[in-house]
Amino acid sequence: MSLRTKFMLALLLTGLAAVAMVGGLAYVGMTKKVDVIRRQRAADHFYEGMNGYLQKYGSWQAATAAEPFDNFMHGQDGQGNRPPPPPDEEGDERRGPPPGEGPPRHEGGRPPPPRGNGEPPFHFIVADGQYRVLLGAGVYRPGEVLPESARKDARAIKVGERVEAYISPEGVFTPSKQEQQYIDAMREALVAGVTGAAALALVLGVLLSRGLSRKLSHLTGAVRAMHGGSLLQRVPVEGKDEVAALASAFNDMSEQLARSHEELKESHQTILAQAEQMRELSVRDALTKLHNRRHFDEQATTLFSHAVRHKRPLSVVIGDIDFFKRINDQFSHATGDAVLRQVGEILRSHMRLSDLVARYGGEEFVIAFPETELPQAAALCDKLRNMIEGFPWHEVHPDLKVTMSMGVYADLAAGTAEAMLQKADALLYRAKQTGRNRVCFA
Ligand code: GH3
Ligand code: MG
Ligand code: MG
Repeated sequence: MSLRTKFMLALLLTGLAAVAMVGGLAYVGMTKKVDVIRRQRAADHFYEGMNGYLQKYGSWQAATAAEPFDNFMHGQDGQGNRPPPPPDEEGDERRGPPPGEGPPRHEGGRPPPPRGNGEPPFHFIVADGQYRVLLGAGVYRPGEVLPESARKDARAIKVGERVEAYISPEGVFTPSKQEQQYIDAMREALVAGVTGAAALALVLGVLLSRGLSRKLSHLTGAVRAMHGGSLLQRVPVEGKDEVAALASAFNDMSEQLARSHEELKESHQTILAQAEQMRELSVRDALTKLHNRRHFDEQATTLFSHAVRHKRPLSVVIGDIDFFKRINDQFSHATGDAVLRQVGEILRSHMRLSDLVARYGGEEFVIAFPETELPQAAALCDKLRNMIEGFPWHEVHPDLKVTMSMGVYADLAAGTAEAMLQKADALLYRAKQTGRNRVCFA
């Protein structure tokens, strides 16, 4: 059930409950009040009639022997003794305590006929001084002793000092036509009130819930858009109620989130760049900017595995600058560094993209040539050796001369990249031994 429906239902039920409660209480209260007044009047009138009847003849036996109670009451009313009926009783034959109507009807214990038009609103039971029933109103038989429960409302009629009779009311209220009209009018007013309250609750419900659901749907749409990735959302802030406060807080939150997200993105980019820089630094040699030994060892292992698996050629080279110690000593350590940088540059600039070159340590350099057989690798190394030798070192220092010795090995049977490098190192040693500035291969 939507919030809107719940809201409307709550409003409707509250309105209806309030009207039904107020109207119902008023209806029941008024009905009871009318009943009490009616009962009191009827009782007073019957009491007066019976009192007069007994006072006139002295006792019940004498009175009933002289004239029936009905006749006596008719006579009384005929003489204008009947109290004027209340204004609402006029024209109603059933109203008031009908003179003698109650008691004579129930003589002999006959049950009372159903109450309806022409039926008196109340019956009265008449008992003697010892509570023996004289007139039973169809409830008690004459001569029966009135039970305790019926005695508490009984009124005594005294002749002289002696209680001659007790009168006890019996029966329920039957409204007169006019009273019924009042009650009907009240019921109609109650129904009209309930209908009006329902209509009002519906109209109010529709108006209020429409505004509420519109505002909430703005918020829902914005939250969905945020979920879809658009963090910066704005919803309209209308009025100053709780929904407006929620919308305003939502806008602030969305703005804050979007800003934080941007900052996070920027710092993420910075971190990525720094991580890349770190990674690059960790695999590079600071002086020559060539890859370092660690990187070479990792990559050479991969190249070796690839070559073995695909039965492709691979050549590894180790080169060492001749008499480098002497260069340092003769010209300076800075000149030695410059030589290292320049040799590194010569090697790097003549590599293919797939070749791997690194400074292995000190003045030693290593190269891996994938997809290259030994003769091509040896030729390439000789070319490199030639370029190093031919470089215009005199521009660095007039007396400077730089050469490099190299060992090249290309047999995968060595078993590992490391083993191949050891073989190449042995060949380098041979190059050193056989005069330097040369390439030895196998
Ligand atoms: P050989 O021809 O037998 O290779 O002789 P060499 O003098 O080149 O060999 P040796 O191993 O005796 O000397 C290498 C020198 O390289 C020793 C060391 O001071 C120097 N060296 C190592 N790393 C650096 C560096 O980063 N910069 C400089 N300037 N010199 C370095
Ligand atoms: Mg060396
Ligand atoms: Mg050396």
